[in-house]
Amino acid sequence: MEKFNFHSHTDYCDGIDTAENMIRAAIKKRLKYYGVSSHGPVPFETDWTMKQERLADYLEEIESLKQKYRDQIVVFIGLEIDYLPDLSTSFINKELLNKLDYTIGSVHFLGKFRDGSPWTVDYNRDELAQGIKESFGGDVRLAVQTYYRYIASMCEAFKPDVVGHLDLIKKSNRNNYFFNEDDQWYQDAVLHCLMKIKQVGCIVEVNTGGKFRGYTEAYYPSDWILKTALQLEIPVTVSTDSHSTDAIDFEFEEACQKLKDIGFCKISVFNGQGWAQEEI
Ligand SMILES: [Zn+2]
Ligand SMILES: [Zn+2]
Repeated sequence: MEKFNFHSHTDYCDGIDTAENMIRAAIKKRLKYYGVSSHGPVPFETDWTMKQERLADYLEEIESLKQKYRDQIVVFIGLEIDYLPDLSTSFINKELLNKLDYTIGSVHFLGKFRDGSPWTVDYNRDELAQGIKESFGGDVRLAVQTYYRYIASMCEAFKPDVVGHLDLIKKSNRNNYFFNEDDQWYQDAVLHCLMKIKQVGCIVEVNTGGKFRGYTEAYYPSDWILKTALQLEIPVTVSTDSHSTDAIDFEFEEACQKLKDIGFCKISVFNGQGWAQEEI
């Protein structure tokens, strides 16, 4: 199977390389398809999302790179769109969606600190602990259940093509610091979320980015979640969530092999017409 990656970042957001350098690296690694999906704007300051005023430049630049390298690689324009229950989908409109080939929907923000500033589930363990304390009165279970509820609501709100790093909330959970994935309540929360994903018709990605950056020992999501996705016949794809040129195809083959081992025969690949189901 030919290589691809539809989840990747640039220096329009928190990626460290330019879009052009990322595309060149993808050509070097012989990818057939390469989708650029920088973090879309959110309606407040962060140091990792694209500024609203840069969105037009982003779309224009990736479109021109698409043409420039068309003989060497097929480039697509995507966006990793953040979901915040009452805010973040406000900038998603038909005009924007028409300029995008596909969207990745992700939940990073889970609440606000007492001072009103939003916090994310994936910054570090201390921030997550503080966030759970200040937004959920220290109730880990409620925080985690809310995280998966937000993903389900996101799917309903704007039906992203791909759900990004489904169990990102485990990033700071090494040694079961906050919760145990074997707990029934955790598995129920994930299952309810998967059922919504299935109902809406989104793709779940196997994301190797957490492992590349040394945050997790495994990919997102965990194997048991992939097994459940297989039972529910939810389509899957593989992405590296690359923030730098050296992560372009990180463990692409290994992640595909994992899907095969779990029992998947097909993988979702965006080919410009839509998401095709290709033999793994
Ligand atoms: Zn993300
Ligand atoms: Zn990402």
